[in-house]
Amino acid sequence: MARVPDGLNLDNYWMPFTGNREFRSNPRFIARAEGVHFTDADGRRILDGLSGLWCCGAGHGRPEIADAIARQARELDYAPAFQMGHPLEFEAAARLVAHAPHGFSHAFFCNSGSEAADSALKIALAYHRARGEGARQRLIGRERGYHGVNFGGMSVGGIPGNRKAFGQQVAGVDHLSSTHDLEHNAFSRGEPQWGAHLADELERRIIPLHDAANIAAVIVEPFAGSAGVLLPPRGYLARLREICDRNGILLIFDEVISGFGRLGYAFAAERFGVMPDMITCAKGLTNGAVPMGAVIVREGIYETVVNAAPAESVEFPHGYTYSGHPLAAAAAIAAIGVYEREGLYERARELEPHFEGAVHALRGKPNVIDIRNLGLVAAVELAPRPGAPGVRAKEVFLKCYERNLMVRFTGETIAVSPPLVIERNEIDTLFDILGEVIADVA
Ligand code: PLP
Repeated sequence: MARVPDGLNLDNYWMPFTGNREFRSNPRFIARAEGVHFTDADGRRILDGLSGLWCCGAGHGRPEIADAIARQARELDYAPAFQMGHPLEFEAAARLVAHAPHGFSHAFFCNSGSEAADSALKIALAYHRARGEGARQRLIGRERGYHGVNFGGMSVGGIPGNRKAFGQQVAGVDHLSSTHDLEHNAFSRGEPQWGAHLADELERRIIPLHDAANIAAVIVEPFAGSAGVLLPPRGYLARLREICDRNGILLIFDEVISGFGRLGYAFAAERFGVMPDMITCAKGLTNGAVPMGAVIVREGIYETVVNAAPAESVEFPHGYTYSGHPLAAAAAIAAIGVYEREGLYERARELEPHFEGAVHALRGKPNVIDIRNLGLVAAVELAPRPGAPGVRAKEVFLKCYERNLMVRFTGETIAVSPPLVIERNEIDTLFDILGEVIADVA
């Protein structure tokens, strides 16, 4: 069993999305991180196969980001977020909008992906109301979608285990079907070929049920990360865009995971050539170094909401004490600088074929029923152990950790998405360990 740091009291912390009892029986403590490695409390170096939790694309311990945060903490630790400004939040918004695809104009800051999702849903409602279409209140998500844990995001989300304990959800929500289908798409390389027609469900099933004039927005992840790397069928997102356009419905891409280089571009919207009306992001926005989320809106949305309100009013009564926090703004500017200066998205595109080859080399290992990949993201799906769903993938996660590799498990799936600075030989090491472990837990 791994060491608990000397004198550390484990009695009081309630860990998030964690088997608290399992953790205490088998603690895993991270002490430091640098580049693509963590060091645990025992001094073991562990290869980070998931960029922390999909956040640290530029690798850990970047001095440019650490210095920017430290400088800012000394200069201005906090300024009131409401009715007051500080220069760095405006600079961070300008950098983020310039980093986003063409046609986006404003960024609204919050502190997490969950808050970004809920903020985007509220912007959608406020936008329609400002245009005199206040009846547009329904929100459409997708089965197996993940938009964080706040009530809005949870309701449009579609992961059963995240919802069922929490009673009433936000009303007026409906869901598209999941696009994940192993019968048609198992072992796809890149975007699956089958399934673009699943977008038509919006027009065939959901719009007739509610009437387009009552629907505010559709929110989807360009690829679903948290539910186990579910990739969009080729053409699916473009079709969703067309249907939303025909029906006056806003399209929100939740890019909390897919943003900042996971797919080799600043945002997945660019890779797929499909422009949503809003992009939510977080995680990589600061390279994970300080909590920060954002909603980036297309030209016209800010003006519509703001200009519809009386001149002296608070036009959009929504925000957080820490919106645009000075330390987060400093970290975001520094992180975007690193991504741009070092060409990390191009690097991810260059690594993609090697990464794809390495993960698909695991085909044929025991119980592997699917392998899928796009950009620097991959998943290996395992057959459930009879009578014990989810246990096999969890065992793989725990054994990988024992062998100095951090991956993530979700249901029956192992997800991998290393920092964009990983080297080819480290990619090989990652998948060698994963392959050996999958064989061992068979
Ligand atoms: N949206 C998506 C697509 C995510 O993947 C996540 C987290 O993984 C969230 C929202 C929630 O982000 P946070 O945990 O920062 O609230």
